[in-house]
Amino acid sequence: MADSMPMAEAALSSFDEQQLAFDGKYEWLRAATGDGPYILGEGTYGKVYKARNLRTGEIVAMKQMKLDAEEEGVPSTAIREIAVLKGLSHPNVVCLQDVFCRPGKLILVFEFLEQDLKKHMRALNGRLTPASIKHFAYQLCCGVEFCHSNRIIHRDLKPQNLLIDNHLRLKIADFGLARAISIPVPKYTHEVVTVWYRPPEILLGSPLYSIPVDIWGIGCILPEMATGCPLFAGDSEIDTVFKIFQKLGTPTDAEWPGLSELPDFKPTFPKWRAKGWENIRNTAAQLGPEGIALLEQFTAYDPKNRISARRALLEPYFADVDRSNLA
Ligand code: AMP
Repeated sequence: MADSMPMAEAALSSFDEQQLAFDGKYEWLRAATGDGPYILGEGTYGKVYKARNLRTGEIVAMKQMKLDAEEEGVPSTAIREIAVLKGLSHPNVVCLQDVFCRPGKLILVFEFLEQDLKKHMRALNGRLTPASIKHFAYQLCCGVEFCHSNRIIHRDLKPQNLLIDNHLRLKIADFGLARAISIPVPKYTHEVVTVWYRPPEILLGSPLYSIPVDIWGIGCILPEMATGCPLFAGDSEIDTVFKIFQKLGTPTDAEWPGLSELPDFKPTFPKWRAKGWENIRNTAAQLGPEGIALLEQFTAYDPKNRISARRALLEPYFADVDRSNLA
């Protein structure tokens, strides 16, 4: 009898009902070869599977989050953050359509997109046209502006989590997850977390960082689209710091007050001069003077001097973007 059922048992049976309802709503697609599930990829938080929503017929990406085995259930902070993400809707942010959660299990269901920017660039041998670079950069700034205006920081922008649909619409994946799924996340042994897009304040150990971390990410992705090569491809944190200094010049306390107090800053760091964007592959030719002017504001050393996504959208570089198909 339901009345006399112990609470834990009642909760479990309610979880079972929800599981049944969830299982009845989606069909997990199988890989073309063999009978394993169709795995779309594997990211920071777990594996991503291809599935179909049986009600709408729509293809979706199911992200099965890897949870900390020590944790009893899904942390309430994560649930709160995810509820916020589920309420957000923007053309340049991958839509979180559904969430399934029970003890030890968290599945996020996202709209499915064919490609990511990394694969797209590879397919074109790294040769994006100046117009398509601008178009993607504009969409990236629109998505970031929307999330920042909702007080959500990405913290891990990179070409792999910028998804692209068949109409070349760019959508940002994983927004807000860094905070929702508390760090450190359990790691897969073969997973390599890239530090190439990490801003200098984090690399130098600042305990306080905020919205400008995403702007630095945009500042790394824009020249990568222009040249086909990652800008600061270090093989460790310190190697990435030195790659940044070699290209942008070693910063000083004058341009970045408080720099020398950052935990991992050393006064013995080599002093490099800025190379100048005109000497960094074909960046200047691909972006033009207005693009370079904006890039300099994305990559300002002092986070306080980094342009906001909102202001970036008003910069002359974007004045001639065709906005007709972006709404
Ligand atoms: P992530 O955990 O977001 O880094 O995802 C790992 C990989 O799964 C990505 O590089 C994509 O190849 C794939 N993936 C993630 N989300 C989606 C999606 N919404 N649609 C299609 N593929 C996705």
